[in-house]
Amino acid sequence: MGHSHALGGALVFAGAGPFLLPSLIGRPLSPGEVLLGTLLSAGAALLPDADHPDGTVAHLLGPVTRLLCRAVGKISGGHRHATHSLLFAAAATAGAALGVARLGRPFVLGLVLLLLFLALRALHLPAPGPGPAAWTTAAGLAALGAAATDRWLPGTGGWLPYAVGLGVLAHLLGDFLTRQGVPLFWPLRRRYEVVLIRRSGNGVETRLLVPLMTVATFVLLWFGAFSASLPTF
Ligand SMILES: [Zn+2]
Repeated sequence: MGHSHALGGALVFAGAGPFLLPSLIGRPLSPGEVLLGTLLSAGAALLPDADHPDGTVAHLLGPVTRLLCRAVGKISGGHRHATHSLLFAAAATAGAALGVARLGRPFVLGLVLLLLFLALRALHLPAPGPGPAAWTTAAGLAALGAAATDRWLPGTGGWLPYAVGLGVLAHLLGDFLTRQGVPLFWPLRRRYEVVLIRRSGNGVETRLLVPLMTVATFVLLWFGAFSASLPTF
């Protein structure tokens, strides 16, 4: 499921980011920022499943993150509880904004590093699988991405919290479309769902949805990042 959640995060940012964020931050995003935001949102789309000991977040640093995710699951009331609510989306956005405001650049680059790493692992880029080579490659690329952000995209902190929020919302939307639903208005218990996808990881998802979402993301990126209406960076 990590793979389609990450794709969903990328798709939502590529579709909404270039049009929504300029009105929130008072300037258009550069093509580089749209590309980075798409990857960061893909990474942030994995955060709600930090309540599950077997998700991409849990596998980040082996037993350390597995224990951490088990703790998150316990505190938030189990899988698909508190971390699958609009309140969590707001809290994650506000938390990122607070971190940017209080801690500045080190926080921005640390969060970029973490989200890029998560996105690369979940999107199976550049190398899939559990081996140390794949892990190291993704970590190295994420570090390069954070360094490039520091060097060429100094305004990232201004919109980073919104990329986090959009990624989390994309995750909620994804789970909303599968069985079990999500408690959108947690702490209210009612779960909401519109079951379009019967079971996660089934044939329809992998054979139809994943390619469709991938193509849609690239098409949206093309219009969002490279259309003439946006300035180049
Ligand atoms: Zn979930």
